[in-house]
Amino acid sequence: MHDVYIFNTMGRNIQLFKPLHEGSVGFYGCGPTVYNYAHIGNLRTYIFEDTLVRMLKRFGYEVTHVMNITDVGHLSSDDDTGEDKMLKSARERGQSVLEIAQFYTDAFFRDTERLNIQQPKIICKATDHIQDMIELIKRIEANGYTYFAGGNLYFDVSKFDRYGELAGLQLDQLKAGARVELDPNKRNPFDFVLWFTKSKFDKQALLWESPWGIGYPGWHIECSAMSMKYLGEQFDIHAGGVDHIAVHHTNEIAQSEAATGHKWVNYWMHAEFLVIDKGKMSKSSGSFLTLESLIDRGYDPLDYRYFCLGGHYRSQLSFSWEGLDQAKSARLSLVDKVLALKEKVAKPAALSELGEKALQYRSAFDEALADDLAMPRAMAQVWNLLKDNDVPAQDALALILDMDEVLGLDLAKAQRKEVSVDPETLQWINSQIERRAAAKKARDFATADAIRSELIAKGIQLEDRPEGTVWRLHE
Ligand code: AMP
Ligand code: ZN
Repeated sequence: MHDVYIFNTMGRNIQLFKPLHEGSVGFYGCGPTVYNYAHIGNLRTYIFEDTLVRMLKRFGYEVTHVMNITDVGHLSSDDDTGEDKMLKSARERGQSVLEIAQFYTDAFFRDTERLNIQQPKIICKATDHIQDMIELIKRIEANGYTYFAGGNLYFDVSKFDRYGELAGLQLDQLKAGARVELDPNKRNPFDFVLWFTKSKFDKQALLWESPWGIGYPGWHIECSAMSMKYLGEQFDIHAGGVDHIAVHHTNEIAQSEAATGHKWVNYWMHAEFLVIDKGKMSKSSGSFLTLESLIDRGYDPLDYRYFCLGGHYRSQLSFSWEGLDQAKSARLSLVDKVLALKEKVAKPAALSELGEKALQYRSAFDEALADDLAMPRAMAQVWNLLKDNDVPAQDALALILDMDEVLGLDLAKAQRKEVSVDPETLQWINSQIERRAAAKKARDFATADAIRSELIAKGIQLEDRPEGTVWRLHE
């Protein structure tokens, strides 16, 4: 089995990955809060998790990937303030909370499928696991880490010595820097709710019986309860976006270890943000790009996947349309190269019979993956391979398809489309392109965009190149 090194947020250094059980990995990634569409920033994090899982599988691990669906309890701020996100969305749309949750869960998995993200082995909804959460809270309470105030059960962070270790913060520093706390029941601003019976919002839709009264769970407890249920009380890797380090994951650790009395997760991995114009893309701000909006503009979801592979997961990735255009044309040229190889050879070589040159590229690719998932370096090997005329076509084809098991660009399915357009349509397309160019010149971008959209609706995709606009039929 190949050695794998990963950056552990706990300790903040690169560490050799040692699984708890030889040959298998327990992996938990925080899933979506389903009150709105996922934005492309969220999807970057899920693409990262997907490449991580694919990399581990490539190196021979059997991965049990668990993902939760947050359909209750996530307030509009991560630290227990604000309104329940689900409830707010349901009220705004005049639907029930469960209808909203189902709608956005379906939308989420439609997006992940289009991005070629493999389905986690276990997908678990918070609302299906309330009893597991209650049982866990009982253990935390029995161990003396809680207090009841103003109708809610709180976790007392001062009882947990290692509180804030993941974020690299000490509690006294945290206290000094704390904002004005809105909840007067808390003894310490970093205490958090395990179980609410008193909400500021009287119309809480989903309520359950519990030893602390009728109410609903705090957000953080679901991840502790469900990960332990499916992966055991200690497991290998937990991942999410960097925004989860300071509050959500910090609180998950405190409550999990308070319940069990021992270490919970061995490796923490966090994906940096996708940013636009140096700002964070956020779901709650309401202005964000969805995968659908990229598709509407004529992009293939895999163009976005390719775009994400171009950045290391621990660096911020800056989104721009130009960047996405570049990713698109790079991906299409990759597809072209694979098609040319397929046309050249009857079938790919067997991996066990690769020649020396191909093996060198394969090991450089694997080294990059095993070095904290260095995807840009791995991608460079893909291109080096394809540019090297000394690698026999049979070997190149075999290796590129093998590499694609981690890249997830669906290269095995690539096929040449017969492009046949009758002369009348051709004339029409060209006249539309000319109209669009004239509109752009007159800075009438609304008309230009409308023309592009009309062409897309007819299956015609435009690409603006320095020498002019070219078109192709949708793949
Ligand atoms: P949420 O549905 O808001 O709980 O977020 C789902 C996942 O997306 C979490 O792992 C977040 O950390 C992550 N995330 C949120 N915003 C961004 C962003 N702008 N870029 C990358 N990941 C993000
Ligand atoms: Zn979580």
